[in-house]
Amino acid sequence: MQIPFDNSYARLPERLFAPQTPTRVASPQLIRANPGLAAELGIDSTWLESAEGVSTWAGNLVPEGAQPIAQAYAGHQFANFVPQLGDGRAILLGEVIDTHGNRRDIQLKGAGRTAWSRGGDGRAAIGPVLREYIVSEAMHALGVPTTRALAAVTTGEEVQRESPLAGGVFTRVAASHIRVGTFQYFSAQEDTEALRALVDHALARHYPAANDPANPALALLTAVITAQCDLIIRWLPLGFIHGVMNTDNVAISGETIDYGPCAFMDGFHPQCVYSSIDRGARYAWGNQPSIAQWNLTRLAETLLPLIAEDRDDAIKLAEQALAIFPDRFQAGYLAAFRAKLGLTEANDSSKEFIKSTLEILAKNEVDFTLFFRHLTRVAAGEDAAEVVALFSAETDANAWLESWRAVASPDTELTKMQAANPILIPRNHRIEAAIQAGYRGDFVPFNRLVDALTLPFTADAQFSDLEQAPSSDERVTETFCGT
Ligand code: AMP
Ligand code: MG
Repeated sequence: MQIPFDNSYARLPERLFAPQTPTRVASPQLIRANPGLAAELGIDSTWLESAEGVSTWAGNLVPEGAQPIAQAYAGHQFANFVPQLGDGRAILLGEVIDTHGNRRDIQLKGAGRTAWSRGGDGRAAIGPVLREYIVSEAMHALGVPTTRALAAVTTGEEVQRESPLAGGVFTRVAASHIRVGTFQYFSAQEDTEALRALVDHALARHYPAANDPANPALALLTAVITAQCDLIIRWLPLGFIHGVMNTDNVAISGETIDYGPCAFMDGFHPQCVYSSIDRGARYAWGNQPSIAQWNLTRLAETLLPLIAEDRDDAIKLAEQALAIFPDRFQAGYLAAFRAKLGLTEANDSSKEFIKSTLEILAKNEVDFTLFFRHLTRVAAGEDAAEVVALFSAETDANAWLESWRAVASPDTELTKMQAANPILIPRNHRIEAAIQAGYRGDFVPFNRLVDALTLPFTADAQFSDLEQAPSSDERVTETFCGT
């Protein structure tokens, strides 16, 4: 077997999924593959990029041991419940146990229609494929739990969107693809038996140490609340906006999943939104913690029949579990921003300073990443001119710097600042340029961006152009869904 499959999801009750062979494409070509990740998965790096490997990543060859399936799920999309979504353009090839002993899914995205494609073609254009590759690998390098990119191919076929576009297939690796929406699917059908099977599977797979035989559903809920809370704590200090935090895009594993209209903020504003479909700014940067809690409440609802026989008892227990979130979030969020600013003390005054700093950054439309990057240089002894230049009002910059010098401990906190403030993020305009070049058949900008982002905390002169904020005509103000 070229891929050491062991497919536990396909052994669950059949109504959780539908067997589905990928649909062949005309003439696949490799854009990029990920030998480091392949090694973790027990896949030979030569085979990874061989003709057989490329056929596999295109869906033309079903490798030995694979049991391709599409998974059933539902979801709240922008707060509206859709009882049946499911994998409409994704096919799970199977699972492997990685070199750390963790079970990982290998899934093709854009591999053709499934039982849940509805009106869709089951395909992906290469734009969203490149975007997911760049951003998911960058998130990994930035230390954020995330799904990963194993391979990207072109299909030699066109997909029809607003105009015809070159097609691609993306190979996604995830701890699992079980979502809040997976539980909602079976909850909506009042299928308690399927819910119980999912709880047992998810607990054994993701949180074996958290299991409580007396109440596995509550143990799972508590573990997911903690993992999702910790995930949002990682997103906000990077200026990351997921863009489409629908319950079908919330992984039970606590990994970031589904890189559609996501974006990293340029100029800071808490209400910042890039997604073209997020008209009401529901998924704005600063709304993400409260949306995460809303999503977790939807998960809790699905588990009530398993948490206690009496509904009121179940609600009480679920509410206690959900109550973990606000304090845990607040503590993690403040610790992260203290690290970014070089503050030592966890007290009311550092909390107030973080708040007023974000207000002044928003007022001055300061570039979020460059601000913390240059501030880290100031902490290391360089002069503050580059920080000042980021503000629209110089007086605000100088007043802020003076207040920062009064409260920060740059000498003792420098290492923490360096570890908290990346030099490189995948800037929206760089992603867009890489995608546009990709559509012209030029993958050099894409490959350069992926290469650069493997070490986002390390200054490298050859990539210094990638640090820059967009000029006014380069600025990307809207991002689009992953279809
Ligand atoms: P997403 O925007 O990735 O969260 O997808 C939302 C839902 O739409 C999921 O059920 C997807 O499987 C489905 N979907 C998205 N794009 C396509 C497509 N091209 N063909 C079929 N289904 C799709
Ligand atoms: Mg999705």
